[in-house]
Amino acid sequence: MSKGLPKRSEDYSLWYNELVKRADLAENSPVRGCMVIKPYGYSIWEKMQAQLDKMFKETGHTNAYFPLFIPKSYLSKEASHVEGFAKECAVVTHYRLKNSEDGKGVIVDPEAKLEEELIVRPTSETVIWSTYKNWIQSYRDLPLLVNQWANVVRWEMRTRLFLRTAEFLWQEGHTAHASKQEAIEETVQMMNVYAEFAEKFMALPVVKGVKSANERFAGAEDTYCIEAMMQDGKALQAGTSHFLGQNFAKAFDVKFATKEGGLEYVWGTSWGVSTRLMGALIMAHSDDNGLVLPPKLAPIQVVIVPIYKGDEELDKISVKAKEIMGKLRAKGISVHFDNRDTHKPGWKFAEYELKGVPLRIAMGPRDLENNTVELARRDTLTKETVQLGEVVLEEYIVQLLDTIQHTIYQKAFDFREEMTTEVNTWEEFEEMIEKKGGFLSAHWDGTSETEEKIKELTKATIRCIPIDRKEEAGQCILTGKPSEGRVYFARAY
Ligand code: AMP
Repeated sequence: MSKGLPKRSEDYSLWYNELVKRADLAENSPVRGCMVIKPYGYSIWEKMQAQLDKMFKETGHTNAYFPLFIPKSYLSKEASHVEGFAKECAVVTHYRLKNSEDGKGVIVDPEAKLEEELIVRPTSETVIWSTYKNWIQSYRDLPLLVNQWANVVRWEMRTRLFLRTAEFLWQEGHTAHASKQEAIEETVQMMNVYAEFAEKFMALPVVKGVKSANERFAGAEDTYCIEAMMQDGKALQAGTSHFLGQNFAKAFDVKFATKEGGLEYVWGTSWGVSTRLMGALIMAHSDDNGLVLPPKLAPIQVVIVPIYKGDEELDKISVKAKEIMGKLRAKGISVHFDNRDTHKPGWKFAEYELKGVPLRIAMGPRDLENNTVELARRDTLTKETVQLGEVVLEEYIVQLLDTIQHTIYQKAFDFREEMTTEVNTWEEFEEMIEKKGGFLSAHWDGTSETEEKIKELTKATIRCIPIDRKEEAGQCILTGKPSEGRVYFARAY
């Protein structure tokens, strides 16, 4: 095992990068901004996927798949959409390579130029709405509730493993509705699904809100979002749900015959979360010893480490360990018995701490004698000895995993509360953003110019206008102009 991780308090960014690599989650690839997601990292992503997919299906959606390539002309059909994405599009211009004349390599074959260049999808609204045109004729075809799991490419300049990569994995829901009201309800519903997933499964408290015009999705009329607070006081947009109005229906001429016999443009939504959630999970809970995973997303929830000298002791411990494993598995708990003789128990303890396994059971000869096991919690790093005669271990562990899940959430929640400050003067705003960070709840005059100016001066942006904000007349923190209520500012990833 290599030496310890860098400390969060010393270099948060380095701590994060090292942790992602050392915990075997992901690594950089030969192409800048792209990443290899390693098996352990991918198994956490799979758990996220499985739960989200279940929640999408419970709310009436089905999965489909649309192509990776989009004709270039499609992107420009919706004016603000192309403007928003043009700067980060990967474009396919040729379809063949040939040997170079010096025979030392290959070059793009100039003869093999595509008639129409293709975009590698940065998001799929255009290709999907061009398809929906054929699928939707009448109100009977609506609502159309489709999701796809896919990869997308956005040529990001400043990248960071999971949080912002040039290629990322995500899901994108694309729905079509007969009324504005219904489409807005869908948009809000999916924001709520994301918030529920974040809070119940990721143990991550989020603020639900609406984006300001500056931060809105290119092509949307409104963007709803969930925003989370990371341990360094920076905010992270964890998921977005867009009310598209009739923008894409108009761009792709998608109309439906109404019940009343009229012909109207369809209303749309789209919503997505990405592998960025992996970054959120890591940054929100982990510590200087490594990952801290909430039990609901941990690939291994319980690890059993035997402490022994010689085969005879190991055999005895194995019998007991296997019995415990069977009982835990019967309760739906994922458990791993690490009986490798290539590593010492101390090494294993550190390894599972780094990997964020929520609960460790250690068993030695004395435990066998006394009919006990030692339980160690990853979240609190506390240990206890349990008398097997006194408790039903598997039931105790089910409870304990639940407690761990709640404790991790509560810790993140308390931190978020501590990092949310109401500020009322510009001096206070500047000082707080510099010294403390976090969310600053402040009045804003509602204009893009003021938001731009504040960003220029402090690097803080409006993360969202909280859904549940109270009406409170006030004065804009920068301009002193009237404001209807507070919004959340933060420096963000
Ligand atoms: P958008 O389509 O821009 O609303 O993004 C949908 C989701 O993908 C949001 O949750 C974003 O936070 C996330 N996302 C956007 N860009 C990236 C990126 N470069 N890497 C990872 N996730 C991203």
